[in-house]
Amino acid sequence: MPSVLLRFYAELNDFLPPSRRQAEFAQDFGTGAAVKDIVEAAGVPHTEIDLIVAGGRSVGFDYRPRDGEHISVYPIFESVDVTPVLHLRPAPLRDTRFVLDVHLGKLARLLRLLGFDARYGHDLDDAELARISRDERRILLTRDRGVLKRSGVTHGTYVRASQAEAQAVEVLRRFDLSGAVRPFTRCPRCNGLLRPVAKADVLDRLEPKTRLYFDDFRQCASCGQVYWQGSHAEPLQAALRRITNRASGMDASAD
Ligand SMILES: [Zn+2]
Repeated sequence: MPSVLLRFYAELNDFLPPSRRQAEFAQDFGTGAAVKDIVEAAGVPHTEIDLIVAGGRSVGFDYRPRDGEHISVYPIFESVDVTPVLHLRPAPLRDTRFVLDVHLGKLARLLRLLGFDARYGHDLDDAELARISRDERRILLTRDRGVLKRSGVTHGTYVRASQAEAQAVEVLRRFDLSGAVRPFTRCPRCNGLLRPVAKADVLDRLEPKTRLYFDDFRQCASCGQVYWQGSHAEPLQAALRRITNRASGMDASAD
């Protein structure tokens, strides 16, 4: 069976077993296989890859390597000095919007609270996620590498952190979104946009104390939920501050 000598760079090593990290290793492949399938057989989803160099030149995902060829694989956002550089990513999405897999409900809620368009449903299966990502031009966030290997997913990323707050920091950093945070502009329940609403229009939906102490209200344009300044508990507001501070590097100690 033919084989190539593969070397993965930077965070792509996270996908490999320890013995294969930061080192060249042999990977067998079926004759005529595309390099995309060979690197995925090694455990690395193609959506994480920005650049593949074979025999000193950059190649596309459909490149068919020869037996014994040396192949270097670089991640998205890794800056490398390779000429000529043929990046494999399509043009970046204009708006940063997300669709999240079933494991990331808490992260979806945090992203919405930070103002990001984050579609999530516990009933979305892998095929649905791939379709939504493609059709609605949403970045697929997932804890399941298998979803990223589906063809058709061009914008997806594997979320490495396991805890929701750390996941939010990871996403903000990865897509450089600190400057785009707009807290409390989107409904954490349904992802709808919040708009100002007159107190008189929502009076009958408020508890007596809320009626007494608050005057500024927002309502979700999609589900009708009413929000006011006190409706987000202080621990939640503190969590959002921690996330934005860590993502923008203002709180290095949190790493
Ligand atoms: Zn809503």
